Amino acid sequence: MPSRKKDARIVYGMCTWWGSIYEVDKSGVIPTCPHCGSPLYEVENIEAWYKQCDLYPEIDYRKALDWVRGKCSRDLGWEEELAAIQADPSITAPPIWELYLRKAGNDAS
Ligand SMILES: [Zn+2]
Repeated sequence: MPSRKKDARIVYGMCTWWGSIYEVDKSGVIPTCPHCGSPLYEVENIEAWYKQCDLYPEIDYRKALDWVRGKCSRDLGWEEELAAIQADPSITAPPIWELYLRKAGNDAS
C-alpha cells in the first residue's frame, strides 16, 4: 500500500496570516487566507519558514511569528496602536513586528 507523504508547505499572506497548507481556504482557484481571502505565498516547510528569523538575531522574530500564527491582521483592529508605534523614533524593529513582539510578550507574562 503506497504511503501518502504529508504536505509540509507553510503558507502566508500579505495580511500576516500564516499556517500549514491544510489550514487555507481552498474554495477558489488558488489557496487564500481563511479570514480575509488574500492570496497566499508558500515556503517548502517549517524549517525554511523559521530560517528567515535567523537573518535578524537582534530581534526575537520567532516569538512574534509564533504569536501571530493563524491571526489575520485585517481582523485585529490595531490601527491606533500601530500608528503610535510608527510615531515613536526609538522603535528599532519594523512597526508591525514591534507590535507582534509586544503582544507576544504580554501573552507570555
Ligand atoms: Zn488574512
